[in-house]
Amino acid sequence: MATAHIVELEGRREWENYHRTGTSHLKKRYGLRSGDGGRGRDDIAQAASEVQKWLLAAKEEGVPVRPVGGAWSLSNIQLVQNGWMLNTRRFNRCFRLAGHDFARPGSVDPGAFMLIEGGVQVDEVNDKLQEIERSLVTTGASNGQTFPGACATGTHGSVLTAGGIQQHVRAVQIVTPGGIYWIEPSAGLMSDDFIRETGSAPVRDDDAFAAALVAVGSLGIVTAMVIESVPRYLVRPWLKLIDFARDDVETLERGDFRAFSEKHGLKGHDPYFVMVITTPYRPWGGKAVARILYQFPYHSRYEHVEPGKLGAGYDAQSMMAWALRQFPWARGQILQLIMRLGVGKGITEERYGTWGETLESSRPTADSFSAALFCDRARLVHTLEALCTAFSRAGGSTAVTLRFVKGGYGLLSPARWENSVAIDCDGPGGEGTLRAYRKMLDALERQGIEHTLHWGKINNLTPARVAANYGDDLSRWRAVRDRLLPDPADRRLFATEELRAFGLAD
Ligand SMILES: Cc1cc2nc3c(=O)[nH]c(=O)nc-3n(C[C@H](O)[C@H](O)[C@H](O)COP(=O)(O)OP(=O)(O)OC[C@H]3O[C@@H](n4cnc5c(N)ncnc54)[C@H](O)[C@@H]3O)c2cc1C
Repeated sequence: MATAHIVELEGRREWENYHRTGTSHLKKRYGLRSGDGGRGRDDIAQAASEVQKWLLAAKEEGVPVRPVGGAWSLSNIQLVQNGWMLNTRRFNRCFRLAGHDFARPGSVDPGAFMLIEGGVQVDEVNDKLQEIERSLVTTGASNGQTFPGACATGTHGSVLTAGGIQQHVRAVQIVTPGGIYWIEPSAGLMSDDFIRETGSAPVRDDDAFAAALVAVGSLGIVTAMVIESVPRYLVRPWLKLIDFARDDVETLERGDFRAFSEKHGLKGHDPYFVMVITTPYRPWGGKAVARILYQFPYHSRYEHVEPGKLGAGYDAQSMMAWALRQFPWARGQILQLIMRLGVGKGITEERYGTWGETLESSRPTADSFSAALFCDRARLVHTLEALCTAFSRAGGSTAVTLRFVKGGYGLLSPARWENSVAIDCDGPGGEGTLRAYRKMLDALERQGIEHTLHWGKINNLTPARVAANYGDDLSRWRAVRDRLLPDPADRRLFATEELRAFGLAD
């Protein structure tokens, strides 16, 4: 029986991330592997101990390190130069928990929780949950990220009552050179025996937990999480090209999603998920794509169809990547035509799937552009107008997607308003679009329009901007970092060019 271990991976010293937005020039590359038997907590204790030894060896060698999840972030925050990389994707087992694993066994339903290893993919979590008749509440639009990788940036979807994916997390195991920590809210969740058996020291502290939820890869290496799921449910997708008017944006700004759905979607139902894709050239007054999901109780008598027929891949990034392959010359207002072609007749007939069945993994999209800013939903019309005016004037051509996210769930969650909107700009890449996007961000800043940016996508973050965006929450996050990594040499171990640019590394 093999135990969890780290192997050195031979071969490439030049490593590109999934969407080929950046290259790491590595000294060494390693892989973290699950064991193949035994209890989950034993596998996790073994892995955490191996990771700690590996970190101490890197410290001794004086090289920076970087864990990599799905390698999907386009902001290159999974890169490290002249350092050691740890690929986590094969440390990917999921385990059920029993009542006696919890601090207060009678007060929780153990079936609602799962212990996951630090490299498990969102897709794998969906599959495991499906087997035990459970589901995630929300995810990003695709499922190829690892759970800790997705949490690291606050990856979100557009479920109207949900925050980012990190909202499922109830406990996090983090390894640093100086310790193996089991971080939970101060109320506590897991029993002392369970925590000891995972090889960790308990940290029951609300600030530490809130910092660990969106860690931006800067607090240590996440080797395990406990996540909470909900009973499985079905969703019915609705996908349509709509006439999108300024009134509609006002309706969305008010959060009257039912009214939006009555006008453009299935009548008589509250929507579970609402997403709108439009263009910066004509954000309203033209055509837009609406993707709406309705939630229904689970039953087994539905016809299983492939994810594409449930609307998977109708996020703007996948659509634009498809369009770019079909029409490499596509720019500007042609995006409207692309949306029309991409959506075709849409999906309005009755089809159902579980949450996991509505998702698929996207193909690598080198040469594409993907950025996202978050704003207060109460300022949606004003923000969208300012954004589109500045972006299209500067010659940027991407689709613009509106997604709705609840705020909170982590000190560094970019969804900072109780009702936040994520405005994604996805499309063909190129210097022109990047320049226009940066000009647009400058314009928003000049006009005093409050916004934050996605940690995992293209951005213009600087330490000053991050400090202004997160204020006291950033100070609290730093205080936690300095508690988990008190030795400056340990902090330097996790410092990269990209994280220094965010002001999250010294
Ligand atoms: C096609 C595509 C679709 C996307 N869709 C969405 C979407 O719908 N919504 C959205 O919000 N975002 C979306 N994104 C962005 C993406 O979800 C985030 O960038 C996410 O963080 C990537 O997860 P990952 O596992 O690939 O992490 P990586 O890119 O590998 O890593 C992200 C960060 O986490 C760190 N990290 C990874 N694993 C660990 C670990 N075990 N311990 C400590 N740190 C770790 C890395 O070092 C890095 O700093 C999309 C990106 C692409 C390319």
